[in-house]
Parts: sequence; C-alpha cells; structure tokens
Amino acid sequence: MAMARTRCTDRVIGAILASWRYDISGISPEMRRDYEHHLAECAHCQTRQNFHRSLDAALAVLTSLAALFFLFALAVLKHIKPLEHVAFNVLGLDISDMYHMLLSAGVAGLCFSVIALALVLMATPAPSYLGGIAAERARLLEERLPAAIKSLRPR
Ligand SMILES: [Zn+2]
Repeated sequence: MAMARTRCTDRVIGAILASWRYDISGISPEMRRDYEHHLAECAHCQTRQNFHRSLDAALAVLTSLAALFFLFALAVLKHIKPLEHVAFNVLGLDISDMYHMLLSAGVAGLCFSVIALALVLMATPAPSYLGGIAAERARLLEERLPAAIKSLRPR
C-alpha cells in the first residue's frame, strides 16, 4: 500500500488538509498557496488528495447512473401499463397493486438518487474535478487530431 508507506512531511498542515478531505478549492487564493505548496512536495497528501477526488468522482458517476436506472425503470413501467389491463381482462390477474408498488419504488428511487447526486455535487469538488478531466480529454483529443482537420478549424 503506497498510502501506508509514505508519511506526511508536515503533520499540522496534513491534519488540516485531511479535515477538508484534501479539498482546498473553497478557500481564498492567498490561503490556498501554502496548502498547494505542501501538496506539491508531500507525496502522502498528494496520494490522499487523488484518492478523495476519485472517490468524489466515483460517487457522482454512481449516483447519476442510479438516477438513470430509475428513470429507465419508470419508462419501462410506463410501457407495461397497457399490459395491466390485458392481464386483468384476459388472464384474470390483478397486477394493479404490483404495478403501483413498482411505480412508487421507481419514483422513490429516482428522487433518492437525484438528491444523493445533488448532495455529492454540492458537498464535494466533483463538478470541477470532472470538468477538469473533461477539459484535459478534449485537449488530448485536439492534440491528436490530424493536421488536415486542424487546418479546417477557424483560429
Ligand atoms: Zn502532507
């Protein structure tokens, strides 16, 4: 474990950073300088910071996937709705209760995952982190574009 082997070079700053979950995006630029300097020279805190930022990103991705899943489930249920009458009339089954139970579960799940996603986006620097990753990807992609395509783009 890389995390266990490295040690923080400055316990005091390290402890403050840990209490912020290594997120210094919320403090003023002049205050940030000391912490940025420490993060640049301390491998321990750097590893921790990377870990927490990937955790935030993973949470954001998971909660949005959950929201999408419930949205999809509700869309599927909406299409099943006509079958309810078929089952009741032809097969004599009353699946109405089951249907409404699933519908409530889907709505509750969607609400819950949207709230969870909002909390993750508010409480963590995940939006700027993911935005940074997206910008980096776009930059790399642009670098790899063939010269022919690049010359077509307006400068
Ligand atoms: Zn440190």
